[in-house]
Amino acid sequence: MAAGLPPRAVTPGEAPLEVLRRVFGYDAFRGEQQEIIEHVVGGGDALVLMPTGGGKSLCYQIPALVREGVGVVISPLIALMQDQVDALRALGVRAGFLNSTQDFEERRLVEAEFLAGELDLLYLAPERLRGEATLSLLERGHVSLFAIDEAHCVAQWGHDFRPDYLTLSQLHERWPDVPRIALTATATQATHTEIASRLKLQDARHFVASFDRPNIQYRIVPKGEPRKQLLNLLRTEHTGEAGIVYCLSRASVEKTAEYLTQHGIQAVPYHAMLDPRVRAEHQARFLREDGLVVVATIAFGMGIDKPDVRFVAHLDLPKSVEGYYQETGRAGRDGLPSTAWLAYGLQDVVQQRKMIDGGQGDAAHQRRQTAQLDAMLALCETVECRRGQLLAYFGQESGPCGNCDTCLTPPETWDGTVAAQKVLSAVVRLKRERRQKFGAGQIIDILLGRKTAKVIQFDHDALSVFGVGTELTEAEWRSVVRQLVAQGLLAVEGDYGTLVMAEASGEVLGGGRTVKLRRDPVKAKTARPAKEAAARQKAAAVELSAEAAPLFEELRAWRAATAKEQGVPAYVIFHDATLREIASRAPSTLAQLGEVSGVGANKLAKYGERILELLAAR
Ligand code: ADP
Ligand code: ZN
Repeated sequence: MAAGLPPRAVTPGEAPLEVLRRVFGYDAFRGEQQEIIEHVVGGGDALVLMPTGGGKSLCYQIPALVREGVGVVISPLIALMQDQVDALRALGVRAGFLNSTQDFEERRLVEAEFLAGELDLLYLAPERLRGEATLSLLERGHVSLFAIDEAHCVAQWGHDFRPDYLTLSQLHERWPDVPRIALTATATQATHTEIASRLKLQDARHFVASFDRPNIQYRIVPKGEPRKQLLNLLRTEHTGEAGIVYCLSRASVEKTAEYLTQHGIQAVPYHAMLDPRVRAEHQARFLREDGLVVVATIAFGMGIDKPDVRFVAHLDLPKSVEGYYQETGRAGRDGLPSTAWLAYGLQDVVQQRKMIDGGQGDAAHQRRQTAQLDAMLALCETVECRRGQLLAYFGQESGPCGNCDTCLTPPETWDGTVAAQKVLSAVVRLKRERRQKFGAGQIIDILLGRKTAKVIQFDHDALSVFGVGTELTEAEWRSVVRQLVAQGLLAVEGDYGTLVMAEASGEVLGGGRTVKLRRDPVKAKTARPAKEAAARQKAAAVELSAEAAPLFEELRAWRAATAKEQGVPAYVIFHDATLREIASRAPSTLAQLGEVSGVGANKLAKYGERILELLAAR
């Protein structure tokens, strides 16, 4: 792979904006990129908190190009290093990596390039720094900066890479004059503070970007038949598009992937119990192919920088808002409209509470988990803007966003005090039958006055609450129970989700507290406005005309073939957004083509003629 390294793409000292335009083909910096880059180019340390897709990579790549020497990037994403390096080389940047997937010969070659100053960027797996060998290699070469990617690894208790990340504080001692830039997409105050202290970055300049991802539409729906609901979403809004579906269990991952495949959607499973080779192959296919769906447990996707993931769907409730935001953040890195969709129901709450109660760890750990779950439930049940809630969780303020389900179809609220009292009195009555435990199903059957076998068996039709709740449907009662549990006004216990009184239940029963509930939207009501919004969003992002649409498809086909030939992911050639712009502008000269965002000098030289030919042939 050392064969034919290109000459240096940048003359040291070239202005960052020039490099952005010439090498990366972009017009302007985003957000704080320019300030961060100038700070690091000037030799300053930086701690950068920016959401996934915010554009962190350029913050160290451009300084590495502009500064004298080799920029060393520490990243735990070993499986992705090859792709990252390929993407940089496609831009004419001299990049290499060192990790455990290479044999001795390959490593030696990269080391030689590093020492000869023939690299602009060197990606390094954190475990390389464990021994003295790599450290002394770095000392013999000329390091221009250290970038510490996924810096939250140092702060997350139990994280695989934490021990290695903890040793990174020594970089500061050994290379006091080399600037360090640490980057993460995890943003709670606690994580922020811990990264700063663990990596000795208290004196660094901290850049905290807005965590908003305006192109992602957040939607949370009541769970009915989740697979069917998912299929419907994919068919109506995301046909032929790439996405990730998260499930909690391996079994559910397998079943869902099978279900989608049976219904004509290309989907593959990904979970910890799969043969590592199959897993790697599924990940590689996801990165390389257009429009593949991966159904995965949460283990999938960290650091996957596929820019055109159009949707992230959750079929089970995530354990924390932080995790949810990281996972949904994998959608729409290219800035085009994308969907974050979550289906959630009472069963999720029951299951998660059970997992916390039966889990390991001390009381403090359980309390932390419970608090995290409660924050997640609050997000699900909110009648306010979802984005507002999410950003508030990260300590950032925002008004209603206009691009989430509650903004698009504001849910009604209703006074659920009486309904709550009915549920609670049924729970109290059943509690008197000590040995028997009943879940939501039995309570609802009783309220609805249904003489089921189980109702008759326990004489529940003789209870005073039998049949007092016919004003609501079964689905509505389920929603009431779910919300009471979410609000902590009712509790669940044991393996079967037995409903029991919570501490605050008495107050509701006694009439001392009113209960405000969200009315779950009826299906037909949400579908249409969401679609209109999607159309609006698409219009905002280069809507393709009748002539441009087939051209875009042709360009995509060309890209797929070219990517396959080179053995790289399609987006390494060009992003969707770039192909869209080419299709709608239909440039006829190289100069015009070079103006398209995402077409830098290297790619223009490499593919320009071919693209113009393609366009001219029409
Ligand atoms: P992060 O690492 O923060 O998740 P990336 O660095 O992968 O984000 O950037 C996300 C996407 O945005 C990439 O496709 C990148 O090429 C693009 N991007 C970054 N900065 C700019 C910019 N200034 N102009 C246009 N596109 C950009
Ligand atoms: Zn909103």
